[in-house]
Amino acid sequence: MLRKSSIVIIIMLLFSVFLFSEESKADKQVFKTTADRLNPTEKDYPSGRATDMIVIYTPEFGERTGTNQWGVEAIIVNGIVTKVGGNDSEIPKDGFVISGHGIGADWIREHLKKGAMVMVKGKKIKIQHGTISEIYDVDSALESAENYFKKKNNIDDIVKESEKSNKATVFLGKKIEAEKLLTEAKKLTSEKKNQEGLKKAAEAKKIANDLFYDEIDSKDAEIRGVWHRLTEKSPEELIKTLDRLKEANFNAIFPETWYHGMTIYPSEVVDQLPEFQGWDPLKVLVEEGKKRGIEVHVWVESFFVGVEEKRSLKHYKNWLAVRKDGKIISELEKGYIYLCPARKESQELVLNVYKEMVKKYAIDGLQLDYVRYPRSMPYEKGYCYCEYCQKEFKKLYGVNPLDLTPEGNPEMWENWRKWREDNITRFVETVIKELKAIRNDIEISAAVFPEYESALTEIMQNWKLWTDKGWFEFVCPMIYSDDKEWVDKATKNFLKLAGNTPAAPGIAPFMKIPTNDIIEQILVLREDGTAGVVMFALHSVTDDLIYALKRGPFRQSARTGIEIKNK
Ligand SMILES: [Zn+2]
Repeated sequence: MLRKSSIVIIIMLLFSVFLFSEESKADKQVFKTTADRLNPTEKDYPSGRATDMIVIYTPEFGERTGTNQWGVEAIIVNGIVTKVGGNDSEIPKDGFVISGHGIGADWIREHLKKGAMVMVKGKKIKIQHGTISEIYDVDSALESAENYFKKKNNIDDIVKESEKSNKATVFLGKKIEAEKLLTEAKKLTSEKKNQEGLKKAAEAKKIANDLFYDEIDSKDAEIRGVWHRLTEKSPEELIKTLDRLKEANFNAIFPETWYHGMTIYPSEVVDQLPEFQGWDPLKVLVEEGKKRGIEVHVWVESFFVGVEEKRSLKHYKNWLAVRKDGKIISELEKGYIYLCPARKESQELVLNVYKEMVKKYAIDGLQLDYVRYPRSMPYEKGYCYCEYCQKEFKKLYGVNPLDLTPEGNPEMWENWRKWREDNITRFVETVIKELKAIRNDIEISAAVFPEYESALTEIMQNWKLWTDKGWFEFVCPMIYSDDKEWVDKATKNFLKLAGNTPAAPGIAPFMKIPTNDIIEQILVLREDGTAGVVMFALHSVTDDLIYALKRGPFRQSARTGIEIKNK
Protein backbone atom coordinates (compact mmCIF):
# COMPACT_ATOMS: atom_id res chain seq x y z
CA MET A 1 0.00 0.00 0.00
CA LEU A 2 2.67 2.40 1.08
CA ARG A 3 4.78 1.64 -1.92
CA LYS A 4 1.90 2.07 -4.33
CA SER A 5 0.97 5.49 -2.96
CA SER A 6 4.61 6.58 -3.08
CA ILE A 7 4.70 5.76 -6.76
CA VAL A 8 1.52 7.76 -7.31
CA ILE A 9 3.04 10.69 -5.46
CA ILE A 10 6.24 10.45 -7.48
CA ILE A 11 4.27 10.36 -10.73
CA MET A 12 2.22 13.34 -9.58
CA LEU A 13 5.40 15.17 -8.65
CA LEU A 14 7.00 14.42 -12.01
CA PHE A 15 3.86 15.61 -13.74
CA SER A 16 3.79 18.85 -11.81
CA VAL A 17 7.52 19.42 -12.48
CA PHE A 18 6.73 18.93 -16.16
CA LEU A 19 3.80 21.37 -15.98
CA PHE A 20 5.83 23.85 -14.01
CA SER A 21 8.75 23.82 -16.43
CA GLU A 22 6.41 24.27 -19.39
CA GLU A 23 4.79 27.15 -17.62
CA SER A 24 8.07 28.85 -16.74
CA LYS A 25 9.22 28.51 -20.32
CA ALA A 26 6.15 30.40 -21.38
CA ASP A 27 6.53 32.84 -18.50
CA LYS A 28 9.92 33.95 -19.75
CA GLN A 29 8.13 35.60 -22.64
CA VAL A 30 5.71 37.64 -20.51
CA PHE A 31 6.73 40.82 -18.69
CA LYS A 32 4.67 43.10 -16.51
CA THR A 33 5.18 46.51 -14.99
CA THR A 34 3.21 49.55 -13.90
CA ALA A 35 3.83 52.96 -15.46
CA ASP A 36 4.57 55.92 -13.19
CA ARG A 37 2.28 58.24 -15.11
CA LEU A 38 -0.44 58.14 -17.77
CA ASN A 39 -0.93 61.25 -19.92
CA PRO A 40 0.74 63.39 -17.25
CA THR A 41 -0.44 66.88 -16.43
CA GLU A 42 2.64 67.54 -14.27
CA LYS A 43 5.01 70.10 -15.73
CA ASP A 44 8.07 69.20 -13.62
CA TYR A 45 9.94 67.92 -16.71
CA PRO A 46 9.11 68.24 -20.43
CA SER A 47 5.81 66.40 -20.95
CA GLY A 48 5.87 65.19 -17.36
CA ARG A 49 8.49 62.46 -17.93
CA ALA A 50 10.70 62.76 -14.86
CA THR A 51 13.87 60.93 -13.76
CA ASP A 52 13.77 57.11 -14.09
CA MET A 53 10.06 57.07 -15.01
CA ILE A 54 7.93 55.03 -17.38
CA VAL A 55 5.11 57.12 -18.87
CA ILE A 56 2.23 56.15 -21.17
CA TYR A 57 0.99 58.67 -23.75
CA THR A 58 -2.29 58.03 -25.57
CA PRO A 59 -3.90 60.14 -28.35
CA GLU A 60 -5.81 61.95 -25.57
CA PHE A 61 -2.50 63.56 -24.55
CA GLY A 62 -2.00 65.21 -27.95
CA GLU A 63 -0.21 64.65 -31.25
CA ARG A 64 3.32 64.18 -29.92
CA THR A 65 4.89 63.16 -26.63
CA GLY A 66 7.09 66.29 -26.51
CA THR A 67 9.75 64.58 -24.38
CA ASN A 68 13.40 65.64 -24.33
CA GLN A 69 16.30 63.63 -25.83
CA TRP A 70 17.28 61.81 -22.63
CA GLY A 71 15.15 58.71 -22.92
CA VAL A 72 13.59 56.18 -25.21
CA GLU A 73 10.10 55.49 -26.55
CA ALA A 74 8.25 52.50 -27.94
CA ILE A 75 5.43 53.06 -30.45
CA ILE A 76 2.54 50.61 -30.17
CA VAL A 77 -0.01 50.32 -33.00
CA ASN A 78 -2.94 47.94 -32.66
CA GLY A 79 -1.27 46.28 -29.71
CA ILE A 80 2.04 45.56 -31.47
CA VAL A 81 5.36 47.37 -30.95
CA THR A 82 6.27 48.90 -34.31
CA LYS A 83 9.29 51.00 -33.33
CA VAL A 84 11.67 51.37 -30.40
CA GLY A 85 13.95 54.41 -30.20
CA GLY A 86 13.91 58.17 -30.23
CA ASN A 87 11.94 60.75 -28.26
CA ASP A 88 9.22 63.36 -28.88
CA SER A 89 7.40 60.71 -30.92
CA GLU A 90 4.17 61.08 -32.80
CA ILE A 91 1.38 59.34 -30.84
CA PRO A 92 -0.39 56.91 -33.22
CA LYS A 93 -4.17 57.41 -33.51
CA ASP A 94 -4.77 53.67 -33.13
CA GLY A 95 -2.21 53.14 -30.44
CA PHE A 96 -0.03 54.74 -27.80
CA VAL A 97 3.56 55.44 -26.78
CA ILE A 98 5.42 54.00 -23.80
CA SER A 99 8.19 56.39 -22.88
CA GLY A 100 11.01 56.00 -20.38
CA HIS A 101 13.91 57.84 -18.81
CA GLY A 102 16.90 56.38 -16.91
CA ILE A 103 15.89 53.12 -15.25
CA GLY A 104 12.54 53.35 -17.07
CA ALA A 105 14.34 53.63 -20.42
CA ASP A 106 16.49 50.60 -19.57
CA TRP A 107 13.37 48.60 -18.82
CA ILE A 108 11.85 49.57 -22.16
CA ARG A 109 15.00 48.67 -24.09
CA GLU A 110 15.13 45.29 -22.44
CA HIS A 111 11.49 44.29 -22.72
CA LEU A 112 9.76 46.17 -25.52
CA LYS A 113 10.97 44.36 -28.59
CA LYS A 114 9.71 45.25 -32.03
CA GLY A 115 6.80 42.92 -32.78
CA ALA A 116 5.99 42.22 -29.14
CA MET A 117 2.34 42.30 -28.09
CA VAL A 118 1.48 44.95 -25.52
CA MET A 119 -1.64 45.24 -23.40
CA VAL A 120 -2.29 48.31 -21.30
CA LYS A 121 -4.94 48.66 -18.61
CA GLY A 122 -4.72 52.03 -16.91
CA LYS A 123 -1.10 52.25 -15.88
CA LYS A 124 -0.61 48.47 -15.96
CA ILE A 125 1.54 47.17 -18.81
CA LYS A 126 1.79 43.56 -19.97
CA ILE A 127 4.17 42.52 -22.73
CA GLN A 128 4.29 39.23 -24.56
CA HIS A 129 7.12 38.09 -26.80
CA GLY A 130 6.88 35.17 -29.18
CA THR A 131 6.85 34.28 -32.82
CA ILE A 132 5.59 37.71 -33.80
CA SER A 133 8.73 39.43 -32.47
CA GLU A 134 10.89 36.90 -34.30
CA ILE A 135 8.95 37.56 -37.48
CA TYR A 136 9.59 41.29 -37.11
CA ASP A 137 13.31 40.61 -36.69
CA VAL A 138 13.39 38.61 -39.93
CA ASP A 139 11.44 41.30 -41.77
CA SER A 140 13.72 44.05 -40.62
CA ALA A 141 16.90 42.04 -41.36
CA LEU A 142 15.59 41.38 -44.88
CA GLU A 143 14.78 45.04 -45.27
CA SER A 144 18.29 46.06 -44.13
CA ALA A 145 19.86 43.52 -46.47
CA GLU A 146 17.78 44.70 -49.42
CA ASN A 147 18.38 48.39 -48.79
CA TYR A 148 22.08 47.84 -48.48
CA PHE A 149 22.23 45.62 -51.57
CA LYS A 150 20.37 48.18 -53.67
CA LYS A 151 22.50 51.07 -52.48
CA LYS A 152 25.77 49.22 -52.95
CA ASN A 153 24.94 48.04 -56.47
CA ASN A 154 23.07 51.19 -57.35
CA ILE A 155 19.85 49.45 -58.44
CA ASP A 156 16.14 50.09 -57.79
CA ASP A 157 14.58 46.71 -58.46
CA ILE A 158 16.27 43.47 -57.47
CA VAL A 159 13.76 41.27 -59.32
CA LYS A 160 14.41 43.08 -62.61
CA GLU A 161 18.13 43.08 -61.94
CA SER A 162 18.09 39.32 -61.36
CA GLU A 163 17.28 38.77 -65.03
CA LYS A 164 20.73 40.01 -66.01
CA SER A 165 22.88 39.74 -62.89
CA ASN A 166 23.93 36.53 -61.22
CA LYS A 167 24.62 38.36 -57.96
CA ALA A 168 21.06 39.63 -57.78
CA THR A 169 19.74 36.15 -58.57
CA VAL A 170 21.68 34.64 -55.67
CA PHE A 171 20.51 37.41 -53.36
CA LEU A 172 16.91 36.96 -54.39
CA GLY A 173 17.14 33.17 -53.94
CA LYS A 174 18.26 33.56 -50.32
CA LYS A 175 15.61 36.16 -49.66
CA ILE A 176 12.89 33.87 -50.99
CA GLU A 177 14.23 31.02 -48.84
CA ALA A 178 13.93 33.19 -45.71
CA GLU A 179 10.46 34.32 -46.67
CA LYS A 180 9.31 30.74 -47.19
CA LEU A 181 10.47 29.76 -43.72
CA LEU A 182 8.73 32.81 -42.37
CA THR A 183 5.44 31.82 -43.98
CA GLU A 184 5.79 28.38 -42.39
CA ALA A 185 6.50 30.01 -39.03
CA LYS A 186 3.36 32.12 -39.31
CA LYS A 187 1.28 29.09 -40.26
CA LEU A 188 2.58 27.04 -37.32
CA THR A 189 1.86 29.94 -34.96
CA SER A 190 -1.70 30.21 -36.22
CA GLU A 191 -2.07 26.48 -35.49
CA LYS A 192 -0.85 27.19 -31.92
CA LYS A 193 2.36 25.23 -32.55
CA ASN A 194 4.40 28.00 -31.00
CA GLN A 195 7.65 26.17 -30.30
CA GLU A 196 7.86 24.85 -33.87
CA GLY A 197 6.92 28.29 -35.18
CA LEU A 198 9.73 29.86 -33.19
CA LYS A 199 12.19 27.32 -34.56
CA LYS A 200 11.24 28.10 -38.15
CA ALA A 201 11.39 31.83 -37.49
CA ALA A 202 14.88 31.42 -36.01
CA GLU A 203 16.03 29.58 -39.15
CA ALA A 204 14.62 32.40 -41.28
CA LYS A 205 16.35 34.95 -39.07
CA LYS A 206 19.74 33.30 -39.52
CA ILE A 207 19.41 33.38 -43.32
CA ALA A 208 18.17 36.98 -43.32
CA ASN A 209 20.94 38.17 -40.98
CA ASP A 210 23.68 36.45 -42.96
CA LEU A 211 22.27 37.92 -46.16
CA PHE A 212 22.63 41.38 -44.61
CA TYR A 213 26.11 40.85 -43.11
CA ASP A 214 27.51 39.23 -46.27
CA GLU A 215 26.66 42.29 -48.34
CA ILE A 216 28.59 44.71 -46.11
CA ASP A 217 32.07 45.76 -47.21
CA SER A 218 35.07 45.40 -44.97
CA LYS A 219 37.42 48.41 -44.99
CA ASP A 220 41.24 48.41 -45.12
CA ALA A 221 41.68 51.22 -42.62
CA GLU A 222 39.44 52.35 -39.79
CA ILE A 223 39.54 52.44 -36.01
CA ARG A 224 37.67 49.43 -34.64
CA GLY A 225 37.87 50.01 -30.95
CA VAL A 226 36.21 49.06 -27.71
CA TRP A 227 36.38 50.56 -24.23
CA HIS A 228 36.94 48.10 -21.43
CA ARG A 229 36.87 48.16 -17.63
CA LEU A 230 38.86 45.07 -16.78
CA THR A 231 37.25 42.33 -14.72
CA GLU A 232 39.79 39.69 -15.73
CA LYS A 233 41.53 38.07 -12.80
CA SER A 234 44.63 36.68 -14.49
CA PRO A 235 46.85 37.09 -17.57
CA GLU A 236 45.15 34.02 -19.07
CA GLU A 237 41.71 35.60 -18.80
CA LEU A 238 42.97 38.82 -20.35
CA ILE A 239 44.56 36.91 -23.22
CA LYS A 240 41.21 35.21 -23.81
CA THR A 241 39.58 38.65 -24.07
CA LEU A 242 42.16 39.79 -26.61
CA ASP A 243 41.69 36.59 -28.61
CA ARG A 244 37.96 37.20 -28.77
CA LEU A 245 38.56 40.75 -30.05
CA LYS A 246 41.12 39.52 -32.56
CA GLU A 247 38.66 36.99 -33.86
CA ALA A 248 36.27 39.81 -34.79
CA ASN A 249 39.13 41.93 -36.20
CA PHE A 250 39.02 44.73 -33.65
CA ASN A 251 42.28 46.70 -33.91
CA ALA A 252 42.19 48.84 -30.78
CA ILE A 253 41.33 48.38 -27.13
CA PHE A 254 40.81 51.29 -24.73
CA PRO A 255 41.41 49.76 -21.29
CA GLU A 256 40.41 51.93 -18.35
CA THR A 257 43.70 52.37 -16.50
CA TRP A 258 43.21 55.40 -14.18
CA TYR A 259 39.90 55.50 -12.31
CA HIS A 260 38.66 55.76 -8.72
CA GLY A 261 41.91 57.61 -8.06
CA MET A 262 44.00 54.48 -8.65
CA THR A 263 45.64 52.55 -11.48
CA ILE A 264 45.25 49.00 -12.76
CA TYR A 265 49.05 48.60 -12.84
CA PRO A 266 51.48 48.86 -9.89
CA SER A 267 52.27 52.59 -9.80
CA GLU A 268 54.90 54.66 -8.04
CA VAL A 269 52.63 57.71 -8.07
CA VAL A 270 49.30 56.38 -6.74
CA ASP A 271 47.86 53.16 -5.29
CA GLN A 272 47.12 50.17 -7.49
CA LEU A 273 43.45 49.14 -7.54
CA PRO A 274 43.26 46.33 -4.97
CA GLU A 275 41.54 43.91 -7.38
CA PHE A 276 44.67 43.87 -9.57
CA GLN A 277 47.30 43.55 -6.88
CA GLY A 278 49.81 40.82 -7.60
CA TRP A 279 49.94 41.26 -11.36
CA ASP A 280 50.24 43.91 -14.04
CA PRO A 281 47.32 43.83 -16.49
CA LEU A 282 48.66 46.77 -18.51
CA LYS A 283 51.90 44.92 -19.22
CA VAL A 284 49.90 41.90 -20.43
CA LEU A 285 47.67 44.10 -22.60
CA VAL A 286 50.60 45.81 -24.29
CA GLU A 287 52.62 42.62 -24.89
CA GLU A 288 49.73 40.43 -25.98
CA GLY A 289 47.99 43.24 -27.89
CA LYS A 290 51.14 43.74 -30.01
CA LYS A 291 51.17 40.04 -30.94
CA ARG A 292 47.59 40.30 -32.16
CA GLY A 293 47.75 43.63 -33.96
CA ILE A 294 45.51 45.26 -31.35
CA GLU A 295 46.61 48.78 -30.38
CA VAL A 296 46.40 49.74 -26.71
CA HIS A 297 45.09 53.23 -26.00
CA VAL A 298 44.90 53.72 -22.25
CA TRP A 299 41.58 55.26 -21.29
CA VAL A 300 42.05 57.62 -18.36
CA GLU A 301 39.40 59.31 -16.22
CA SER A 302 41.32 62.58 -15.60
CA PHE A 303 39.56 64.41 -12.75
CA PHE A 304 36.89 61.81 -11.97
CA VAL A 305 38.29 59.91 -8.98
CA GLY A 306 35.53 58.03 -7.22
CA VAL A 307 31.94 57.08 -6.55
CA GLU A 308 30.38 57.78 -3.16
CA GLU A 309 33.69 57.40 -1.36
CA LYS A 310 33.58 53.62 -1.68
CA ARG A 311 37.23 53.90 -2.54
CA SER A 312 39.89 55.52 -0.43
CA LEU A 313 40.30 59.17 -1.32
CA LYS A 314 42.66 59.85 1.55
CA HIS A 315 45.41 61.16 -0.72
CA TYR A 316 43.20 63.75 -2.34
CA LYS A 317 40.78 64.95 0.30
CA ASN A 318 42.06 68.53 0.20
CA TRP A 319 41.84 68.81 -3.59
CA LEU A 320 38.32 67.57 -4.25
CA ALA A 321 35.90 69.65 -6.30
CA VAL A 322 33.21 71.37 -4.22
CA ARG A 323 29.62 72.14 -5.22
CA LYS A 324 28.02 75.58 -4.94
CA ASP A 325 26.12 74.32 -1.88
CA GLY A 326 29.36 73.11 -0.28
CA LYS A 327 28.88 69.40 -0.97
CA ILE A 328 31.48 67.13 -2.57
CA ILE A 329 29.40 64.31 -4.07
CA SER A 330 27.64 65.08 -7.35
CA GLU A 331 23.89 64.90 -7.67
CA LEU A 332 23.81 65.53 -11.41
CA GLU A 333 26.13 62.55 -11.94
CA LYS A 334 24.92 60.33 -9.17
CA GLY A 335 27.58 59.78 -6.53
CA TYR A 336 30.55 60.95 -8.59
CA ILE A 337 33.54 62.61 -6.95
CA TYR A 338 35.97 64.83 -8.86
CA LEU A 339 39.27 66.51 -8.22
CA CYS A 340 39.13 70.31 -8.50
CA PRO A 341 40.30 70.76 -12.12
CA ALA A 342 41.74 74.22 -11.39
CA ARG A 343 44.20 73.23 -8.67
CA LYS A 344 47.84 72.79 -9.56
CA GLU A 345 48.01 69.77 -7.22
CA SER A 346 45.21 67.92 -9.07
CA GLN A 347 46.63 68.71 -12.50
CA GLU A 348 50.13 67.61 -11.47
CA LEU A 349 48.96 64.39 -9.88
CA VAL A 350 46.97 63.33 -12.92
CA LEU A 351 49.74 64.39 -15.30
CA ASN A 352 52.31 62.37 -13.32
CA VAL A 353 50.15 59.26 -13.61
CA TYR A 354 49.93 59.73 -17.40
CA LYS A 355 53.68 60.37 -17.69
CA GLU A 356 54.39 57.19 -15.78
CA MET A 357 52.26 55.15 -18.22
CA VAL A 358 53.96 56.61 -21.28
CA LYS A 359 57.43 56.05 -19.80
CA LYS A 360 56.88 52.53 -18.49
CA TYR A 361 54.67 50.95 -21.15
CA ALA A 362 54.84 50.75 -24.94
CA ILE A 363 51.23 51.91 -25.25
CA ASP A 364 50.05 53.17 -28.62
CA GLY A 365 47.94 55.97 -27.27
CA LEU A 366 46.32 57.73 -24.35
CA GLN A 367 42.69 58.80 -24.35
CA LEU A 368 41.56 61.59 -22.05
CA ASP A 369 38.09 61.08 -20.64
CA TYR A 370 36.36 63.22 -18.01
CA VAL A 371 38.64 65.99 -19.20
CA ARG A 372 36.06 68.49 -18.08
CA TYR A 373 34.20 69.86 -15.06
CA PRO A 374 31.62 67.73 -13.28
CA ARG A 375 28.18 68.42 -14.77
CA SER A 376 27.39 71.95 -13.65
CA MET A 377 23.93 72.77 -14.96
CA PRO A 378 21.56 73.54 -13.23
CA TYR A 379 24.20 75.82 -11.76
CA GLU A 380 22.88 75.49 -8.18
CA LYS A 381 24.46 72.04 -8.19
CA GLY A 382 27.48 73.05 -10.26
CA TYR A 383 31.27 73.09 -9.55
CA CYS A 384 33.87 74.17 -8.42
CA TYR A 385 33.54 76.47 -5.46
CA CYS A 386 36.41 75.21 -3.32
CA GLU A 387 38.36 77.81 -1.36
CA TYR A 388 41.10 77.84 -3.95
CA CYS A 389 38.69 78.59 -6.81
CA GLN A 390 36.88 81.30 -4.84
CA LYS A 391 40.19 82.98 -4.02
CA GLU A 392 41.74 82.73 -7.48
CA PHE A 393 38.67 84.01 -9.32
CA LYS A 394 38.25 86.87 -6.88
CA LYS A 395 41.89 87.86 -7.37
CA LEU A 396 41.24 88.26 -11.10
CA TYR A 397 37.71 89.67 -11.21
CA GLY A 398 37.07 91.11 -7.75
CA VAL A 399 33.98 88.96 -7.12
CA ASN A 400 33.36 85.71 -5.32
CA PRO A 401 31.84 83.19 -7.79
CA LEU A 402 29.50 82.07 -4.99
CA ASP A 403 27.66 85.38 -5.45
CA LEU A 404 27.15 84.89 -9.20
CA THR A 405 24.18 83.54 -11.18
CA PRO A 406 23.81 83.33 -14.97
CA GLU A 407 20.63 85.43 -14.88
CA GLY A 408 21.77 88.01 -12.30
CA ASN A 409 25.22 88.73 -13.77
CA PRO A 410 25.37 87.35 -17.33
CA GLU A 411 28.68 89.02 -18.22
CA MET A 412 30.51 88.13 -15.05
CA TRP A 413 28.98 84.64 -15.24
CA GLU A 414 30.57 84.21 -18.67
CA ASN A 415 33.92 85.21 -17.14
CA TRP A 416 33.41 82.53 -14.51
CA ARG A 417 32.45 79.93 -17.12
CA LYS A 418 35.39 80.90 -19.33
CA TRP A 419 37.83 80.79 -16.38
CA ARG A 420 36.78 77.22 -15.73
CA GLU A 421 36.99 76.32 -19.43
CA ASP A 422 40.53 77.71 -19.55
CA ASN A 423 41.59 75.52 -16.61
CA ILE A 424 40.65 72.43 -18.60
CA THR A 425 42.21 73.68 -21.84
CA ARG A 426 45.46 74.53 -20.05
CA PHE A 427 45.53 71.01 -18.62
CA VAL A 428 44.98 69.43 -22.05
CA GLU A 429 47.75 71.54 -23.58
CA THR A 430 50.19 70.61 -20.81
CA VAL A 431 49.37 66.89 -21.05
CA ILE A 432 50.00 66.87 -24.80
CA LYS A 433 53.22 68.87 -24.55
CA GLU A 434 54.68 66.78 -21.73
CA LEU A 435 53.67 63.38 -23.11
CA LYS A 436 54.91 64.14 -26.63
CA ALA A 437 58.19 65.27 -25.09
CA ILE A 438 58.58 61.77 -23.65
CA ARG A 439 57.47 59.99 -26.83
CA ASN A 440 56.59 61.88 -29.95
CA ASP A 441 54.74 58.96 -31.52
CA ILE A 442 52.18 58.58 -28.73
CA GLU A 443 48.65 59.08 -30.11
CA ILE A 444 46.59 61.32 -27.87
CA SER A 445 42.82 61.40 -28.19
CA ALA A 446 39.84 62.50 -26.12
CA ALA A 447 36.32 61.25 -25.43
CA VAL A 448 34.05 64.29 -25.58
CA PHE A 449 30.40 65.34 -25.34
CA PRO A 450 29.07 65.47 -28.92
CA GLU A 451 26.98 68.62 -28.55
CA TYR A 452 29.24 71.65 -28.56
CA GLU A 453 26.89 74.17 -26.91
CA SER A 454 26.18 72.03 -23.88
CA ALA A 455 29.82 70.90 -23.69
CA LEU A 456 30.72 74.57 -23.21
CA THR A 457 28.00 75.58 -20.78
CA GLU A 458 27.50 72.42 -18.73
CA ILE A 459 30.98 70.91 -18.42
CA MET A 460 33.30 73.68 -19.69
CA GLN A 461 34.81 71.41 -22.35
CA ASN A 462 35.85 73.39 -25.43
CA TRP A 463 36.77 70.51 -27.72
CA LYS A 464 36.34 72.64 -30.83
CA LEU A 465 39.22 74.84 -29.72
CA TRP A 466 41.34 71.72 -29.21
CA THR A 467 40.52 70.26 -32.62
CA ASP A 468 41.02 73.67 -34.28
CA LYS A 469 44.51 73.67 -32.82
CA GLY A 470 45.08 70.12 -34.10
CA TRP A 471 46.09 68.85 -30.67
CA PHE A 472 44.65 65.35 -30.98
CA GLU A 473 45.36 62.46 -33.34
CA PHE A 474 41.64 61.69 -33.15
CA VAL A 475 38.57 62.36 -31.01
CA CYS A 476 35.69 60.16 -29.86
CA PRO A 477 32.40 62.03 -29.52
CA MET A 478 30.16 59.87 -27.35
CA ILE A 479 27.17 59.52 -29.65
CA TYR A 480 25.13 57.16 -27.51
CA SER A 481 21.64 56.53 -28.83
CA ASP A 482 19.46 53.75 -30.15
CA ASP A 483 18.10 56.17 -32.73
CA LYS A 484 19.98 55.81 -36.03
CA GLU A 485 18.72 59.16 -37.32
CA TRP A 486 20.01 60.96 -34.24
CA VAL A 487 23.39 59.19 -34.53
CA ASP A 488 23.57 60.39 -38.13
CA LYS A 489 22.62 63.98 -37.28
CA ALA A 490 24.93 64.24 -34.27
CA THR A 491 27.85 62.76 -36.24
CA LYS A 492 27.38 65.15 -39.16
CA ASN A 493 27.20 68.14 -36.80
CA PHE A 494 30.26 67.00 -34.92
CA LEU A 495 32.35 66.41 -38.06
CA LYS A 496 31.51 69.87 -39.34
CA LEU A 497 32.95 71.42 -36.18
CA ALA A 498 35.86 69.04 -35.61
CA GLY A 499 37.48 70.13 -38.88
CA ASN A 500 40.57 68.14 -39.79
CA THR A 501 40.72 66.01 -36.66
CA PRO A 502 39.58 62.45 -37.42
CA ALA A 503 36.61 61.31 -35.34
CA ALA A 504 35.78 57.79 -34.24
CA PRO A 505 32.42 58.16 -32.50
CA GLY A 506 31.53 56.08 -29.49
CA ILE A 507 28.38 54.01 -29.94
CA ALA A 508 26.34 52.28 -27.28
CA PRO A 509 25.89 48.49 -27.12
CA PHE A 510 25.38 49.12 -23.38
CA MET A 511 21.92 50.48 -24.20
CA LYS A 512 20.93 46.94 -25.23
CA ILE A 513 20.48 48.06 -28.83
CA PRO A 514 19.60 45.11 -31.12
CA THR A 515 22.66 43.74 -32.96
CA ASN A 516 21.50 44.71 -36.43
CA ASP A 517 20.80 48.27 -35.30
CA ILE A 518 24.41 48.52 -34.09
CA ILE A 519 25.59 47.26 -37.47
CA GLU A 520 23.36 49.88 -39.14
CA GLN A 521 24.91 52.59 -36.93
CA ILE A 522 28.40 51.51 -38.04
CA LEU A 523 27.26 51.85 -41.66
CA VAL A 524 25.90 55.34 -40.92
CA LEU A 525 29.23 56.39 -39.37
CA ARG A 526 31.12 55.10 -42.39
CA GLU A 527 28.84 56.97 -44.76
CA ASP A 528 29.27 60.16 -42.76
CA GLY A 529 33.04 59.88 -43.20
CA THR A 530 34.27 59.04 -39.71
CA ALA A 531 37.66 57.45 -39.00
CA GLY A 532 36.02 54.47 -37.33
CA VAL A 533 34.03 53.48 -34.29
CA VAL A 534 34.58 52.71 -30.62
CA MET A 535 32.07 50.64 -28.67
CA PHE A 536 30.98 51.27 -25.12
CA ALA A 537 31.79 48.88 -23.72
CA LEU A 538 33.23 45.39 -24.02
CA HIS A 539 30.96 43.83 -21.37
CA SER A 540 27.98 44.65 -23.62
CA VAL A 541 29.55 43.25 -26.78
CA THR A 542 27.54 40.03 -27.11
CA ASP A 543 28.52 36.90 -29.01
CA ASP A 544 25.78 37.81 -31.51
CA LEU A 545 27.47 41.14 -32.14
CA ILE A 546 30.92 39.51 -32.46
CA TYR A 547 29.42 37.14 -35.03
CA ALA A 548 27.77 39.99 -36.97
CA LEU A 549 30.94 42.12 -37.00
CA LYS A 550 33.10 39.25 -38.10
CA ARG A 551 30.73 38.21 -40.86
CA GLY A 552 29.93 41.81 -41.82
CA PRO A 553 31.76 45.14 -41.47
CA PHE A 554 34.89 43.75 -39.75
CA ARG A 555 35.22 40.69 -42.03
CA GLN A 556 38.85 41.43 -42.91
CA SER A 557 41.50 42.87 -40.65
CA ALA A 558 42.16 46.59 -40.98
CA ARG A 559 44.80 49.04 -39.80
CA THR A 560 43.58 51.90 -37.64
CA GLY A 561 44.53 54.41 -40.33
CA ILE A 562 45.60 57.14 -37.91
CA GLU A 563 48.73 58.68 -39.38
CA ILE A 564 50.91 60.39 -36.83
CA LYS A 565 51.51 64.08 -37.35
CA ASN A 566 54.73 65.99 -36.55
CA LYS A 567 56.93 62.95 -37.01
ZN1 LIG B 1 38.13 74.26 -7.03
